[in-house]
Amino acid sequence: MALNDNAIRLARAAEAAGSAGLDALVVAPSADLVYLTGYDPPPLERLTLLVIRPAHDPILVVPRLERPLAEDAGIEDLGEVQAWDETEDPYAAVAGITGGAERIGCSDRLWAVHLLGLQGAMDGAAFSSAAPVLGGLRAIKDPQELDLLKRAARYADETFARVVQTRMETRTEQEVASQLAELLLETGNDQVTFTIVGAGPNGASPHHEPTGRAIHAGDPVVMDFGGRTGGYCSDITRTVAVVEPPAELRHVFDVVREAQEEAFLAVAPGVPAQEVDRAARRVIERDGYGELFVHRTGHGIGLEEHEVPYIVEGNDEPLREGMCFSIEPGIYLPGEFGVRIEDIVTVTAEGGQRLNHATRELEVVR
Ligand code: ZN
Ligand code: ZN
Ligand code: ZN
Repeated sequence: MALNDNAIRLARAAEAAGSAGLDALVVAPSADLVYLTGYDPPPLERLTLLVIRPAHDPILVVPRLERPLAEDAGIEDLGEVQAWDETEDPYAAVAGITGGAERIGCSDRLWAVHLLGLQGAMDGAAFSSAAPVLGGLRAIKDPQELDLLKRAARYADETFARVVQTRMETRTEQEVASQLAELLLETGNDQVTFTIVGAGPNGASPHHEPTGRAIHAGDPVVMDFGGRTGGYCSDITRTVAVVEPPAELRHVFDVVREAQEEAFLAVAPGVPAQEVDRAARRVIERDGYGELFVHRTGHGIGLEEHEVPYIVEGNDEPLREGMCFSIEPGIYLPGEFGVRIEDIVTVTAEGGQRLNHATRELEVVR
C-alpha cells in the first residue's frame, strides 16, 4: 500500500466527516486505523488515537514509548504525531487538539474506557458513531483491495480443492479443521482466521466449533473457513457428502445452491442490500425450509471478516460498485445435518462477480 493511497483515504475521511456534520473523527487501533494509515498497533490501555478534522491535517496521539513504532509505520508522512508522557492525561491532549469541537464521531473499536475518558475531558461535546462515515468509505474496495480479496479467495478455493482429495471418513472434525488450517497457509495465506467443520448433526449449528467427533460414511460435512493475505480476508463455505450422500441431502443441497444462485443474480449497483437476502430466502421458503434458514444471507468482507454491507432484511442501503460481501444461505435441520454454500461476490457495473470459483456441485468425498 503506497502512502499516497493512505493520504487519499485520510483526505476522504476528513471530507466525509465534514459532510456528516462532524467536527472530528477519533479512530482507535483497529481495521479502521489500518485502512486510513497502515498503522496497526494492538489496542491497549494506553491511548493511541487518530484525530481527523475537516480541513486540518490528521494528528496521531500516541504514548511516548510507541512513537518509534508509529514513525516506522510512516505516520509522519501522513500527518503529525503527538506523543504523550506517562504522567500526562492523554484525553486532555486530545481535547487540546479538538478545541471546541461539538460533534465527535468515534470509531467502533474505541474501548469504552477511552470513550469515557474523552467524554470527561470534552464536557458538552456530543459523541456518535463514526461507522456511517468510515464504513461507507471502507465498503467500496479500490483495485488494490480487490486484487487482495481475489487472491485470498483463490487460496480458499485451492484449500477446498485439496481438502476434498483427502480421506475424511474416520477422521475427526478437529483433524479436518487442522488440515484446513495447514492448507490455508500452504496455499499462500499469511494467517488462518477460522476453520469450522461440522459433520452430521453438528452441521446444523452454523458456527459449530470442531470437536473430536469422528466423521462417518453418510455424513454431510459443512466446512467454513478463511485466511488473510496482505491484510485482506477470505471466507468460503462448502458442504460435502462422505462416501454416500443421504437421500434428503441432495434435495436440501439443490435448494441451497439455487438460493445462492438467485441471490447472486440479484446483485447489481443500486439494488438495496435486503433484496439479495430476499432473493435467497424466497427460494428456501418456497421449499418449506424458511424457518431453518436462521441467519442473514451475507456480510461485507475486507480487512475484517465481517464488515458492512450486511445482506439482511432491513438494510435498504443500495449496493454500489466495488462492494464485496458473502452470499451464504443455509438450511439447518436440527439433529440431522446442515447445508451452507458461501462465496464472496463483488459488485460490478454489469452485476455480481464471484471471487470464489470452487465447485458448487455436491462433492462426494472418501
Ligand atoms: Zn458465520
Ligand atoms: Zn463463512
Ligand atoms: Zn461468511
